[in-house]
Amino acid sequence: MAPLENSHPATQALHADDRLNLVTDVAPPIHLSTTFRYSHDPNELVPSEDPVAEFDGTNYVYAREFAPNATRFEAILSTLLKGNAVAYATGLAALYAALTLLNPRRVSVGEGYHGSHEVISVVSRLSGLEKLPLDCPAESLNAGDVILLETPINPLGTAFNIAAYAEKAHSRGAYLIVDSTFAPPGLQDPFLWGADLVMHSGSKYFGGHSDLLCGVLATKRDDWTKQLFEDRVALGNVLGNLEGWLGTRSLRTMEVRVQRASENSARLISWLHNGLNASMPAAGSEEATIQAVLQKIYHASLQFEPWLKLQMPNGFGPVFAIILTSEDFARALPSKLHLFQHATSLGGVESLIEWRAMSDSKVDRKLLRISVGLENWEDLKNDLLQAFVALAGAR
Ligand SMILES: *Cc1c(COP(=O)(O)O)cnc(C)c1O
Repeated sequence: MAPLENSHPATQALHADDRLNLVTDVAPPIHLSTTFRYSHDPNELVPSEDPVAEFDGTNYVYAREFAPNATRFEAILSTLLKGNAVAYATGLAALYAALTLLNPRRVSVGEGYHGSHEVISVVSRLSGLEKLPLDCPAESLNAGDVILLETPINPLGTAFNIAAYAEKAHSRGAYLIVDSTFAPPGLQDPFLWGADLVMHSGSKYFGGHSDLLCGVLATKRDDWTKQLFEDRVALGNVLGNLEGWLGTRSLRTMEVRVQRASENSARLISWLHNGLNASMPAAGSEEATIQAVLQKIYHASLQFEPWLKLQMPNGFGPVFAIILTSEDFARALPSKLHLFQHATSLGGVESLIEWRAMSDSKVDRKLLRISVGLENWEDLKNDLLQAFVALAGAR
């Protein structure tokens, strides 16, 4: 155990689940069984009283309680997230589990991912949960209430000060949940800044290949961990067996994927930002083309606030948003691109662009969200440039 604790996240991603290696295979096997044999020795049969407390990482009974692939996935994530990780079928299932655990009277929440608001309205229907804006006065929160902070936020990729919201919540005896989907481990550790629960849509960077749905909660509290597992057994919102295996395979490369995508993104943003801010560009120049099509860029890398460099010391994440000079341009840009695929979601190895109006009715219709993947960044730049030229020329 000791060497692993002192090792780096890249190493932990490969070895934090070593103790769960039940076979000699180097590559983790795919366990599909939903049920597991009890001991053949009658003397070893102990009737179950508390399946969550009795689970030791090997004594599987039924896959709605615990299952081998998901348990390996959680073991790696517990190390990387620096808290006990509990995996769910989707990110929104994880958020629902968090609200079920804390059962607040009020939740203070910003715009962010539209689906999270759907979860809140389901819970409101059940419990009368009241929704407050993110910037509500601290006095409107009471003990047991929740601030749900998404940072960086979907779809803009801009960031919020976790420590400030932790202080606000804790000054009232409320809890802070951070949806850190846009900044996986390596980019941001919300616990360091006071988060009580960390939530991820694992469908994004944990999976990383646009082929699995998954959600994760992490907490440093053992009582919350036990309750989350018990609730998950009861509600059945578990990660599927195949997804648990895909997740484990994907975490192995998460650090390099996220680093590279984040670097690619920073380079593209800086190229666009410089073009947008060039004064009096010559007619027909790259800068003039950018200015004809692009109106504004949103991303944490353009915020320049002192706390942000501490909160995100290794880069600001691969997702950013652009506002174009017209709605027609925003609608047409994706069809002019060859490398960026026009699709929702983010966090995969493939670069994606989305005219966000397609999936979020509340958002500016001139807005496109870009999730940068692992293609060579100059190829991505050239793809964007030729598409801008096509749009600006057609005007
Ligand atoms: C995608 C996403 C979710 C929802 O995750 P699913 O896995 O699709 O349920 C929640 N929060 C953020 C910030 C997301 O990007």
